[in-house]
Amino acid sequence: MKILVINSGSSSIKYKLFDMPSEHLVKKGVIEHIGEEGSKFSNHYSGLKIILQETKLVEAVGHRVVHGAEDFNKPALVDKRVIQGIKKCCAIAPLHNPANLSGILATQKLLPGVKQIVVFDTAFHQSIPEYAFIYGLPYDYYQKLRVRKYGFHGTSHEYVALEASRILKRPLNKLKLITCHLGNGCSITAILRGKSVDTSMGFTPLEGLVMGTRCGDVDPALITHIMRKKNLDTKQMDRILNKESGLKGISGISNDMRLLEEKANAGSRRAKLAVDIFVYRVRKYIGAYLSVLGGLDALIFTAGIGENQPSVRKSICQGLFDCLAKKPKIMVIPTNEELMIARQTFRLIRLGR
Ligand code: ADP
Repeated sequence: MKILVINSGSSSIKYKLFDMPSEHLVKKGVIEHIGEEGSKFSNHYSGLKIILQETKLVEAVGHRVVHGAEDFNKPALVDKRVIQGIKKCCAIAPLHNPANLSGILATQKLLPGVKQIVVFDTAFHQSIPEYAFIYGLPYDYYQKLRVRKYGFHGTSHEYVALEASRILKRPLNKLKLITCHLGNGCSITAILRGKSVDTSMGFTPLEGLVMGTRCGDVDPALITHIMRKKNLDTKQMDRILNKESGLKGISGISNDMRLLEEKANAGSRRAKLAVDIFVYRVRKYIGAYLSVLGGLDALIFTAGIGENQPSVRKSICQGLFDCLAKKPKIMVIPTNEELMIARQTFRLIRLGR
């Protein structure tokens, strides 16, 4: 069965075409600059049209959708109710869900009758217990505004956990794992017997680790303090926290970890500080999740930094488990969110679950 996996962002559509169940990657590509001035793609529909000309014979489509809130804890077959659910989540994921939805609606028009499945970044984390997902805020906000920890990168965390179980030849439901997805966006998850029990990202992908351009955990009182002092409105503050902070903000150089390592080695104090802060925050979370899990079988690194920067991994792991009698395995596992989406699409269509 030919399954097309679509990851549609605000100005791009990435795609991979798989032959399932062999998992053979037939084709992949990206359409960029959608909706930008001077671009030949005015919207997702025109971008997708080109992709479908290139891929042909698509028998099912799997879409990545960032936010499913509490409405979705597993993949779903697209129908009116599901579209409504994704629309409802646009209010709490205004940067991502509208673009994901555009991709789904364009596919419906271009491939009428072809089954579409949606796979949510948040779904894997729906197993997190209430005491870990409720913030110390008035409970009302959870009930009325749906304010709680959701967590993201779920498809990636689940994929590498499954891979770890396969490589270790041990059933997932017997393992305690910590998965570190360290890319431009970074998150870390505690996985107990195959279920996410805590994760570093929160209501939005801003919480937790220091990332390429996102700040991660800060004292929330800082936000209003900076807004007052710098006379900023909410949009400007949002931008600073999401686009001007993290490695880029600390170093004043770049969000690119490769460049920062190079500069740090060449003597840049601020580049070194950014890398040190990044590493320290990851270590803190690993320590916290070690106690959440009450032990650890494997620590897993994935994504751009996690897969390709051994020196960062080494700094994170230096002396980390010295106090443990039984040392966990440290593994590097390339993530493959698209393959995970193809698998889930295939399973839902073939097995109905
Ligand atoms: P995204 O979250 O945008 O998918 P990636 O997973 O590609 O990000 O990670 C980007 C980060 O990984 C950057 O900080 C980059 O410097 C770092 N990195 C290191 N080596 C590589 C590599 N070979 N390819 C891509 N990114 C790399």
